[in-house]
Amino acid sequence: MLGDVRVRSRAGFETERRGSHPYIDFRIFHSNSEIEVSVSARNVRRLLSFQRYLRSSRFFRGITVPNSSNILDDDYNGQAKCMLEKVGNWNFDIFLFDRLTNGNSLVSLTFHLFNLHGLIEHFQLDTMKLRRFLVMVQEDYHSQNPYHNAVHAADVTQAMHCYLKEPKLSKSLTPWDVLLSLIAAATHDLDHPGVNQPFLIKTNHYLATLYKNTSVLENHHWRSAVGLLRESGLFAHMSLENRQLMESQIGDLILATDISQQNEYLSMFRSHLDRGDLCLENPNHRHFILQMALKCADICNPCRTWELSKQWSEKVTEEFFHQGDIEKKYHLGVSPLCDRQTETIANIQIGFMTYLVEPLFGEWARFSNTRLSQTMLGHLGLNKASWKGMQREQSGSGDDVDPTFEEMDSDILPQEPRLS
Ligand SMILES: [Zn+2]
Repeated sequence: MLGDVRVRSRAGFETERRGSHPYIDFRIFHSNSEIEVSVSARNVRRLLSFQRYLRSSRFFRGITVPNSSNILDDDYNGQAKCMLEKVGNWNFDIFLFDRLTNGNSLVSLTFHLFNLHGLIEHFQLDTMKLRRFLVMVQEDYHSQNPYHNAVHAADVTQAMHCYLKEPKLSKSLTPWDVLLSLIAAATHDLDHPGVNQPFLIKTNHYLATLYKNTSVLENHHWRSAVGLLRESGLFAHMSLENRQLMESQIGDLILATDISQQNEYLSMFRSHLDRGDLCLENPNHRHFILQMALKCADICNPCRTWELSKQWSEKVTEEFFHQGDIEKKYHLGVSPLCDRQTETIANIQIGFMTYLVEPLFGEWARFSNTRLSQTMLGHLGLNKASWKGMQREQSGSGDDVDPTFEEMDSDILPQEPRLS
């Protein structure tokens, strides 16, 4: 069936059907009489990712959307190329890069990094297939999400590149490690619906059922990534064994980004650092460090310069509050951090930094005590001080740390150790 790439692999898992998108159909909250969608129309929509559904419906309605990559001004192109020469700088402005590439930051940046790391040559990749794969990845992010969109994916990929260049890692990583890290970073939030796991569970979303309420989004991002890898045929020239290994290792990396599992990963990381027994010649240890690196890349916003960090904070809060608005409208009970009446950006950021970002980056700096780590901790301290200043201005008291993030950690689900 066209668009259906669901295949049962020998590894024993299925990819997500191209298009079993986590589209939230708000009509489920209305009475049945209001639902007037024919079964066939619904089936057609399920074949396509949400983004593809929008494009195809525009196409059938005769609305054409210009191909953004064709209308790039030469001058912008030149400036974007110029920026890529400094892609390893921690103060790389992904928002500017996204504007200069006309919304194609994820494709342009990841393609460039594949080239820079010599992956195209090493793995004999077909550049047309690579570009097609990256375009599909970029398209399957929801551009209407204020935060979980392709720009966030590009930002995480750029941060991952910075970590891969750190001396401890760069001298021990294989091209295979770099390949998996970049693919996992670029796809780690693929097809994100802009709402969190508790929302999917309380609305009985089929993804919550499919993944038994555990790492629902991360499992979906991973299976969607595997679907695109297979559909693009990018690694069709590799052995089945290697492709299966790649798919499962990308899964381990993406699943590590589930923030509710942070304590498990952090205590494992801490024990290794205390014992001083990390040996990067050991592929299992390298893989664990890449999981930690991707976790850092995913939540590194507060470690960027204030100008960049502030923009990310506003975007993520907008997404949280949007979810809260829907929950209020449909009487679903407003999730923690999502109520615009009681929460502020400053409170959310201070809680996030205190309970999640500082502990993680503190350990990362113990592992890799470099100038970059010190720069990140420096920004983190300054940014937190700025939010605290704003919090004091708003409340008149200050020093309130939102305990929501700490409470989130107590909700940790049992998890198999990933490091043997
Ligand atoms: Zn993310």
